[in-house]
Amino acid sequence: MTGRVLLLGGTGEARGLAEALAAEGVDVLSSLAGRTADPVLPPGEVRIGGFGGTEGLADWLRANPVRALVDATHPFAREMTEHAARAAARTGTPHLRLQRPGWREQPGDDWRRVGSLEEAAGAVAGFAHVFVTTGRTGLGAFAGLTQEVLVRAVDPPEPPLPPRTTVVLERGPFSVDDELALMREHAVDVVVTKDSGGHLTEAKLTAARQLGIPVVMVHRPPLPPGMTVVETVEDALAWLRAQAG
Ligand code: NAP
Repeated sequence: MTGRVLLLGGTGEARGLAEALAAEGVDVLSSLAGRTADPVLPPGEVRIGGFGGTEGLADWLRANPVRALVDATHPFAREMTEHAARAAARTGTPHLRLQRPGWREQPGDDWRRVGSLEEAAGAVAGFAHVFVTTGRTGLGAFAGLTQEVLVRAVDPPEPPLPPRTTVVLERGPFSVDDELALMREHAVDVVVTKDSGGHLTEAKLTAARQLGIPVVMVHRPPLPPGMTVVETVEDALAWLRAQAG
């Protein structure tokens, strides 16, 4: 494959694709938002920071044409995905969305699906020890909770936080045993998560099932219409090879 690939990252899948492309000698430029203080960097060239909205990205693509734009950002990185779709369309850049599948409910699960973090905060009324695993951003939605709240994030979350919050700073993957121990230690009786999907952080769902604890699951934002979507690194590679003819 010749020509550069712009890979919008910040996920394990993006790193996996960058590794696979670098191993094939493909010129890959990974782009990170710069939110994480100490990111795990992919192989190949890396740029960090926003492009300046749809127009900023479109201008960047005009100045730096690429053979393909692969958007492998997190399923909840809604803005970047919308900007990428529009900028690719405006500049005629071949565009692929790599997004891992969402989690599936299994026998023994008690999931309560909600549409937003605000709805999730409403859904935990009546529980005493809430485990919030939705990441550092958007925690303000939970600021009004008066019960014990355990927050886990990679970097320290910013206020406002609920008044009785315990913060655990950790980066996955987590094992089921670790999750069971953490939930028992904090007497967790409900887990709040986004439907991020993937294996790295699914142990909390297994632990909740084993403990008989409900899970408040925030729906993914919808994808912009008309985009080509694959769910695995292998399928993204196949798409790139097909594009290369
Ligand atoms: P977002 O709300 O969709 O994006 C906000 C802005 O951040 C974008 O408009 C863009 O700025 C910039 N941005 C986002 N991803 C970028 C990238 N890969 N390269 C360059 N600029 C980027 O995104 P977010 O939810 O804050 O996520 C930020 C990053 O964290 C993404 O890389 C995502 O994959 C990763 N992440 C997100 C979550 C989550 O739950 N949202 C979880 C794990 C990892 P401009 O408009 O200036 O271009």
